[in-house]
Parts: sequence; C-alpha cells; structure tokens
Amino acid sequence: MNCVELILKWYCDNKRMLPWRMDHDPYHVWISEIMLQQTRIEAVIDYYQRFMKRLPNIKALSIISEDELLKLWEGLGYYSRARNLKKAAIKIMEDYDGEFPHTYSDILSLPGIGEYTAGAISSICFHLPEVAIDGNVMRVYSRICDLDLDISNPKTKKQIGNEIRSILPENSGDFNQGMMELGEVICIPNGNPKCDLCPVKYHCKAHLNGRESLIPRKIKSKEKLEEEYTLLLLKCNHKFAICKRKEGLLKNMWEFPNYQGFLTYEDIHRLFPDLLSVKLGITNTHIFTHKKWFMNSYYIELDHYIDSYLWVTLEEIENDYALPSAFTPFLEELKKNIHN
Ligand code: SF4
Repeated sequence: MNCVELILKWYCDNKRMLPWRMDHDPYHVWISEIMLQQTRIEAVIDYYQRFMKRLPNIKALSIISEDELLKLWEGLGYYSRARNLKKAAIKIMEDYDGEFPHTYSDILSLPGIGEYTAGAISSICFHLPEVAIDGNVMRVYSRICDLDLDISNPKTKKQIGNEIRSILPENSGDFNQGMMELGEVICIPNGNPKCDLCPVKYHCKAHLNGRESLIPRKIKSKEKLEEEYTLLLLKCNHKFAICKRKEGLLKNMWEFPNYQGFLTYEDIHRLFPDLLSVKLGITNTHIFTHKKWFMNSYYIELDHYIDSYLWVTLEEIENDYALPSAFTPFLEELKKNIHN
C-alpha cells in the first residue's frame, strides 16, 4: 500500500466517533469546523451538542437574535465566528433557498468560510476533489516528505496544497480527515510525534532520516502586544454596570466598564466624586492570539445609576449576557463576594 492508501485505511479503522461525524450533513460539518478553529475537539463536543439542540438547522440559525447566539457561543471565544455563522445562514436562506451550496466557490463565498473550511465541507459532504490544508496537514505532509519549509509562509501552504491535490484519492473527504486526524493524535506538534503508532512510519522521510523533531521548521512567534486595563465593578443596590465594547478586540461584546491603563484611587475618586465606597479588586491576565491584557479592578459602590450603563443582577449577567472569558474571573469574584 502507498501512503495515501495507508492513511485512508488507518482513518477508516481509527477515526474517533464525534457527533458531527454521524452523517455528512454540510450544516453539521460547517458548524463543527468553525467551532474547531482555535479550540480543541474535547472542548467543542459539549458546545456543538448544545448548539445543535437549540439551532438544529440553517433556518433556525438565520433567525436567532445576536445576543442569544453570542450567549450560546460564550466560552468558545473569537465571537466574530458566531456572527459570521448567522450572516452565512441568512445568505444561504436568501440566495440558495435554504439549501447549503454544493460548489467550492459558492461555499467559499459565504461569510466566515475560508479555503480550509470550504475544502473540508466540499470534500467531506460533496466528495469534491478539494484539499483542506491547515497546520496539522502541513505538519504531517512536510514530515512525510521531509520538507524543510517555513509553514507559516503562504507560499508553502500553496505548494503543499498543490502537491496534495495531485495525489488526492476519490474519497477526498476521508483522506483530508485522515491527514487532519493523524496530525491531531499521532503526528503531533512540538517535536514529539508518536512514530511507533503511525501508519506511514515506513514511508515517512523525516522519520527514516531521523529528522521528525526538526520538521516543520520553527519560526519564532512575534511578541504579543500587551495592554493594561482597569475594570470598574460598579454596584448600585443589587445591580452591576455592564456596557458594550465600542471598538477593537471584542467589539460589540458585553463587558464591565473599563479604562485603558491602570487607574489609581485618585483617578477613581475623580471619576466618581460621590461614590459610597471603593476598594481594589482582583487582577487577571488574559492571553488572546496576538494580544495580552493585564487587568486590575476596583469595586465601587454608588447610590445612583449612571444612564450610560446597563444595570443588571449577577444572575442576569450569567444567564442573559455573553461576557467574554477575559472578564469571567471578575464575575466569579463578584459572585463570591455577594454570597460572603
Ligand atoms: S512517521 Fe512520525 S513523523 Fe512521520 S508522519 Fe508518522 S508520526 Fe509523523
């Protein structure tokens, strides 16, 4: 058997039975692929099942309110993915009579769907001869061929895509999934592939040359941009202030009011001259893909509501407003304090 046949056989014998693999419905594959971007499979399973229970089809997704959708997505992060899902569902309802499009170019034209996802849906659901190239696939392929290429370079992605397309078997969906799965469970990153368990160990050039831990070549990741914020945990009666973020990262998401930079007690008194009490709260560091936020906080009690904020109870924040995970530790701390 050649490498392609070995990978197909291995996938057929070993594939994990995941909820979105029970059929080849493009809606199921689409939602799972979007959820799996930046999130591990184990973490996605519960979200996927909850999502499907509430939104079992494209029509339901196209008419859900944005607030409820973001609440459903809460914890997965990168909320633009959820917004794009809804935009794409509306486009499918309007332009394709509610039926998921069948061609690669139509799939690629949907909001939030890039080449990888379009390739995955096209091959898995419609058996089209399309490749789905992500970091896993590039790692596996460059090891099998012992390619000393910078996989962060878009030209490498194109080259690998062309080479895989030329060997793609008829059941392209299974092969693409086999490559992805191999990269997730056997040919894992950071120089520690489990070559003993690998179906292509006798064909893999990097392994035969003893170079598997050197491939793919590592490129130093850029320094993360660092930002400092002060969160204002404003309380009046039994309600807390929240607002929608106006710009930048997490735009339009609910958040606790905050200021860029670390504020002092003097700053707080200048902002709220008639506050009832103030004390320093917890700190938290949150790491996004390209940014790092250092956050401190103040508990501030007021005797009047401020109109520019929405005032809600902690239960309402938890149940009705999607608060990004950067702010979760502050919500948890407020809950602890309110019960003590
Ligand atoms: S033999 Fe090792 S390096 Fe080669 S594809 Fe398999 S797991 Fe990856």
